[in-house]
Amino acid sequence: MSNHSESLSQQVIFDILEKIKNFVEVRLFPIDHALLKMKWEDALPKLNALREEVKVQGLWCPQVPVSYGGMGLNTKQFGMVSEILGMSPIGHYVFNCQAPDAGNMEILMEFGTAQQKEKFLKPLLEGKIRSCFSMTEPNNAGSNPLLMSTTAIRENGEYTINGDKWFTSSADGASFAIVMALTDESNPNPYQRASQIIVPMNTNGLNIVRNIPIMGDEGYGYFSHSEIRYKNCKVIVDNILGSEGAGFAIAQTRLGPGRIHHCMRWIGICERAFSMMCTYVSKRTISPGLMLSDKQTIQNWIAESRADIYAARLMVLDVADKIDTFGQNKAKIEISMIKYFVANVLNKVLDRAIQAHGALGITDDTLLSWWFRHERGARIYDGPDEVHKSRVAKEILKGFQS
Ligand SMILES: Cc1cc2nc3c(=O)[nH]c(=O)nc-3n(C[C@H](O)[C@H](O)[C@H](O)COP(=O)(O)OP(=O)(O)OC[C@H]3O[C@@H](n4cnc5c(N)ncnc54)[C@H](O)[C@@H]3O)c2cc1C
Repeated sequence: MSNHSESLSQQVIFDILEKIKNFVEVRLFPIDHALLKMKWEDALPKLNALREEVKVQGLWCPQVPVSYGGMGLNTKQFGMVSEILGMSPIGHYVFNCQAPDAGNMEILMEFGTAQQKEKFLKPLLEGKIRSCFSMTEPNNAGSNPLLMSTTAIRENGEYTINGDKWFTSSADGASFAIVMALTDESNPNPYQRASQIIVPMNTNGLNIVRNIPIMGDEGYGYFSHSEIRYKNCKVIVDNILGSEGAGFAIAQTRLGPGRIHHCMRWIGICERAFSMMCTYVSKRTISPGLMLSDKQTIQNWIAESRADIYAARLMVLDVADKIDTFGQNKAKIEISMIKYFVANVLNKVLDRAIQAHGALGITDDTLLSWWFRHERGARIYDGPDEVHKSRVAKEILKGFQS
């Protein structure tokens, strides 16, 4: 967005980061694990109270331009905030910059009509409602969205949507979905066949089939992934985002910032897991006078994890800088690189932290198992590792073809 505040001085950014770090450590760390174990509706009063505190401190919607009521941070600045918020599973939610709402806000700010902004964006920005993004289908490979088969047929001023979607994150309790559907199946340009359409969740014909269990955990509310059936689900044509056929083009616009957001959140998770690992091994006696931290294997895990996190952070912040300076089109390959690089660092660091905790690591008595269960998907969502690696390799190899 255009009015991000590149002009904020280093000192101002430093102060903002300190303030947010303090809030996360003091207000969220002591309660986040307990809140995760509660049902969403039982946790909401506390979460809403925390959101009010964030608003009072002027830290609400850090990624949103000032003109829309946010802090106006640019991609890199928000990346640094995202790392801190990622240290707590409720961090992004409490600051109203959680996926998928943050992406939907961005799309609505850029492509929404005045009416769409009033009806859908405004309450989202105010934190009064949640939303979801419904693209992936159980019967088609999500890694190639051109294969999608959900249709939206325009007739008499309405779109009639038919199709099955799944892994629509946070649909449970959301107020609206942004649905990707084919509006022009026979368009010779496959990238112009689909559109993004806003569908209120209470529309007839939109049915949540189930919240999909993730390694035994169905999740709830914001922390869930739904299977959704759209059967003769009708919405007015005014609910289209941008123009008909622009679905993929719109999706492209927020790929870069979205990946920075995820990667920095994963780095935040790494930092908390790393700290938990160091704390645990420093107090766990394995024989009289000998701590786990005295063992070289453990020291290797600590040294390697520290270097992995360091490298990941430098890479992501560098890419964020490129996006802010040159635009995301000039950083496409780097955006793919950070996606698989950081997702793997996350999995490695989490796994080492779990191993260092022994049996405790796989119980639900620490946050580690929650993250392990929910973030294994990091290597799959937002494009599986293999797709990104293939893209990067092909681009590199172009330079070697005669
Ligand atoms: C936690 C989580 C949250 C999600 N949230 C959302 C959401 O909110 N909205 C939404 O619409 N979708 C969401 N998704 C879906 C996600 O976008 C898809 O899972 C992803 O695009 C992969 O599609 P797929 O699962 O159909 O795997 P497939 O496309 O069937 O691929 C299966 C596997 O094949 C391999 N593979 C695929 N393509 C290639 C290739 N070109 N080269 C080599 N190997 C390949 C990869 O290892 C891949 O993991 C979410 C997924 C997860 C796990």
